[in-house]
Amino acid sequence: MSLCLAERALGPVAVPRQITLEEWDEAYERAGSLEPRDAGYGGLLGRHVRSGNTRLARLQFDNSFAALKLWNFLLTEEDRLRQARLAGKTLIGAMKDLGTVPVIACAYPDLVAFYPDGAWWLPCLLEDNAGLLAIADRLGVDESFCPVRAMLGAFVSGEHFPRPDLLVCSVGATCDDFSAIAQRVEGLGHPVLWWELPQRREPEPGEKAALLPGGARAGAGQVAFVQAELARVITGFTMQCNVKLTDRMLAASIHQANKVRSCLAELRRAVFTAGLAPLPALELLVAEMLALHYCSDRAETLVVLEELLATVRERTGRGVGFHGRDAVRVFWVNPVADLKAMNLLEECGGRICGTDYLFTHALDQIPDDIPPLEALARVALADPMAGTAQERAQRIQRDMRAFGSEALIISRIPGASHCALEGEVIREIVTAAGNCPVLEIEVPSVCDPLQGTLRTRLEALVETVRNQRKER
Ligand code: SF4
Repeated sequence: MSLCLAERALGPVAVPRQITLEEWDEAYERAGSLEPRDAGYGGLLGRHVRSGNTRLARLQFDNSFAALKLWNFLLTEEDRLRQARLAGKTLIGAMKDLGTVPVIACAYPDLVAFYPDGAWWLPCLLEDNAGLLAIADRLGVDESFCPVRAMLGAFVSGEHFPRPDLLVCSVGATCDDFSAIAQRVEGLGHPVLWWELPQRREPEPGEKAALLPGGARAGAGQVAFVQAELARVITGFTMQCNVKLTDRMLAASIHQANKVRSCLAELRRAVFTAGLAPLPALELLVAEMLALHYCSDRAETLVVLEELLATVRERTGRGVGFHGRDAVRVFWVNPVADLKAMNLLEECGGRICGTDYLFTHALDQIPDDIPPLEALARVALADPMAGTAQERAQRIQRDMRAFGSEALIISRIPGASHCALEGEVIREIVTAAGNCPVLEIEVPSVCDPLQGTLRTRLEALVETVRNQRKER
């Protein structure tokens, strides 16, 4: 896309702005076509609203072409999965581990992995107009569970992703919500290949310690155990597609995964540390999600992330960005059930400078100097959910220092079993370490009825930080 075409479409695109979906569609129509090449997922953003994603009409979007591409890529995953099936590929529904099993699946030439867990966001994106939560209710999985119960509705309706050829799910150090719902899915006639991820523990006396990505440690015996569990997953994949996986194939997949992870690491670093935010919080959240399973196309994920990074660098180089230099630098914990909350933070004077969306293990580099399956076992054990809330808080503190975050927001997930207490633990540890305001909020899948309260609380946090700045 040439700049002059962009400017004809949008006017001064050189100025980063947040625009509505309507503005994007008008710009797109004016320009004729905004795709620099046919990647198979371009087009008007508005078409995703017409196919049911009505929440998009209430969001504010970055006006860069890289962001348009990001959104279109995210919202066309279902099409890619259906095309993959037509092309004879085997679809793997990876559940819960977030970031490990897809690396194994990608090592095979004809496996495509996706997370049915992604249905977590459907009650938001569809503003529940597909009735997925009502289906879950009827099956006894009510609002005492987190929004992942929409996955159950999606399996029953069969409308939001193709039925996987094989389902794989981690159990053990996972939340009760997911374990219960995945068992219910199996009970509905979707066989699951279960593998166990134990709760992480320090090495026992005399046991060798294994350093995990992200800095935590585990006993070498635990790494060996998880390695054996993942070997069972590989056996399942091999039986499914009749291709034997070699170490060389797995190492090549890890190498590609690390390319995605380093691009994302650089994108996060560049956004969090810039004087002016070069990318809004919402687009950065979507970019982070791509690291989990690559939206079913790893090569294209890298292209999308590289274009975002180029946009961020170009904006930072020109000293332009969003929200003003006095925006309060916030570290955000847990994903938001309603994407609108990310816009809201910025409207209240904040910006994102650090995140832990519960999948930091999908962002860290995978070790490439040890046997590949052992490396993936270490990644799986690095899952924040496999460790203690104290360990999670320690990493949050470290990252807050590295990114210069001034405040912490812990966003509770409605119904999530792990959210009842861990927020309090994280708050206590971070508060004890310094004079950093901490705000705990709960964001439901559609937060409109609570928007007034949320706004007041976010504004109060921003005000507190600004007052602290004056006192320094
Ligand atoms: S309870 Fe938490 S970890 Fe479990 S599925 Fe829900 S959001 Fe994910």
